Order: sequence, then C-alpha cells, then structure tokens
Amino acid sequence: MSTVLLDLDDTLVDQVRAADAAVVAWAPTLGVTGEPAELARRWAELSEPHYRRYQAREISFAEQRRARVRELAPHLDLSDDAEADRRFAGYLEHYRAGWCCFDDAVPTLRRLRRQGLRVGVLTNGDEAQQRDKLDVVGLTAEIDVLIASSTLPFGKPHPLAFAAAVERLGVRAEEVLMVGDSLENDVRGALAAGMSAVLLDRTDAHAGVDVPRIRGLDELELPEQGPARR
Ligand SMILES: [Mg+2]
Repeated sequence: MSTVLLDLDDTLVDQVRAADAAVVAWAPTLGVTGEPAELARRWAELSEPHYRRYQAREISFAEQRRARVRELAPHLDLSDDAEADRRFAGYLEHYRAGWCCFDDAVPTLRRLRRQGLRVGVLTNGDEAQQRDKLDVVGLTAEIDVLIASSTLPFGKPHPLAFAAAVERLGVRAEEVLMVGDSLENDVRGALAAGMSAVLLDRTDAHAGVDVPRIRGLDELELPEQGPARR
C-alpha cells in the first residue's frame, strides 16, 4: 500500500449539508417554497440524473446546472442560458458558504501522511470547483494530489476513471486504497479496478454489506504500512 485515494464530497467534505442549506436559502428567490427538508430532498432528487448525465459526458458541467435550475423553477422562463446561469449563481453563493470538512478529515489525512502514504483525492466533479472546495475548507495543504473526473476520460465508477488515476499517480492499482461514501462509485468501482477499497458509511446505511466498511475516517486502518516518507 503506497497510496490512499479519498473521495471528496460526503467523504471529506459535508457536501449534503451544504447543498441542503443552500437550496433552502436560495429556492425562495426563485419563487419556490416548501418545508426545508422537502426542498432539500426535491433538489437532491432532481439534481441526481442531471449530474449523472454530466458524469457520463452526455452534457457539460454548465448544462447540468442549467437543467437543475430549470427543473426546480419551471414557472420561470430560463430558456436563455445566461439567465439560467445568473439564477444558478445564487445557489452557488450559498453552497460555497456552506462547505466545511468533517471533523475527522484533517486528523486522518495527517495520520496517513505520517505513516508515509501518499494521499490523494479522487472526485467526480469539475476540477476548478473541487480545487476551490479544497481551498475553502482548508484541505489543500493536507493532500498530495487532486484528481477530478473532469480531467479523466470518465467519472467513477467507470474502470477508465480508476485506470487513468493510477496511471497519473505512477503506481499499480494493487498499491492503492480507495475510501469513499459511495458503494458503487467509490468502492465497487475501485475493487473492480484492482484497488483495495473501504466504504465510509457515516449514517450506517449499509450494515451487512459485503465490503470493508467504517463509520468514520478515524476507524480507517491500513492493510499494511507504507514505506517511510523521506
Ligand atoms: Mg462522495
């Protein structure tokens, strides 16, 4: 084991909480109202297929944003891309303000690096946004490398996402441990690519699953010690 790759959203950064709070604050400015929990659920549900299409390279990063705001506020005329972008910017302002990392993120990253391991983030997302996210939450100095799917041929869990990451890192897949909160994207994808993988299941949603599982990053144990860092 020479390298640990961690997912970013909802593994190191509490993305769901930021997105939920952002849509609750922003939706009323579009004339969309409702119970906070209901707004958050609706936004997450309608966003998911558009984001999946972006990950599959069917639409661009900008297009998935426009599709989401158009679907959330169908009563508004957002046929003009610039107007849709302007509206979505209101969400981003709140979303960015809500970014913060989980309490166990920094101690875990430091522990891994002390053990001589190279630590990277492998995230399905836009590189510029994810780099900004790392900066805002104070994680940039805590990792060695960021690999975002916007710079890869495909997003996780496509085998080529992991193959390209491994190639960029200059290591063999067997030397890499992938840690993430998505059973499909992070864990099954990494295992299929020949990596080791651990599911981070903060909400205990996957009890009994047939893969290694931890409830918090502080439970992360490594199969073997990496070489001492010089
Ligand atoms: Mg995630």
